[in-house]
Amino acid sequence: MTGPDPHQDVHVHTTFSDDALSSPAACVIAAAEAGLREICLTDHVRRDTTWVPALVETVDQVRPPRDLAVYTGVETKVWDASGRLDLPDDLPHLDRILVADHRFPAPGGPCDPAAIAEDLWSGRVTADEVVALLMSATAAGIAAAAPRCERPVIAHLFSILPKLGLSEDDVDPLLVDELAAQAARTGAILDVNEKWSCPSPGVVARFLAAGAEVAPGSDAHAAQEVGHHPGAELTIARARELVVVADSVS
Ligand SMILES: [Zn+2]
Ligand SMILES: [Zn+2]
Repeated sequence: MTGPDPHQDVHVHTTFSDDALSSPAACVIAAAEAGLREICLTDHVRRDTTWVPALVETVDQVRPPRDLAVYTGVETKVWDASGRLDLPDDLPHLDRILVADHRFPAPGGPCDPAAIAEDLWSGRVTADEVVALLMSATAAGIAAAAPRCERPVIAHLFSILPKLGLSEDDVDPLLVDELAAQAARTGAILDVNEKWSCPSPGVVARFLAAGAEVAPGSDAHAAQEVGHHPGAELTIARARELVVVADSVS
């Protein structure tokens, strides 16, 4: 079985993100040096971000080697439970939009995960309610991103769970399967994230089994980190083993 290509990086920040160090050109050079076939530049945006056209223009001017595909994207958070995204209204059509769980997407807007953790601890909400809201908001966020780019990417799925005092054990596998089926149907890619070490092989296996594409993402904030995602590659390898085992017992 052919599987996810390790020679790609679906999640890279450049100096268009205020916390990253290397220019788009430097990241593309690093990708070529690392032997990648695909790199996606994915800088942080908010609703009031104005530089996306400049990012697109800058990346257009970079001349990558012929065997390296360079995609232009942005990373944004799911704003609320309806799946609204924290994106500028006049965004140009992009190759990728990374949909991220940087804050908890509550019905009234983004919430500090620590506040939700407190609600959970005091019994004001249940883990099932919080997880159901997170999953439905993520699915809605992917649906909102789809018409605005070639392919949405689910960025570091479940990185918010530890901040909520939860883990993947609190997530009903059926909800993971629903999201995986949506990803397969819509062409959304699952970012297996080096920096956040998530999602786990078990979750990645469910996406693979559903026929969704998964890809390693370094979440690089400097050129030397581009294409460096050994943990993510191991997670994907373990996930593929899990799929093979599940196939052989069924
Ligand atoms: Zn992120
Ligand atoms: Zn990122």
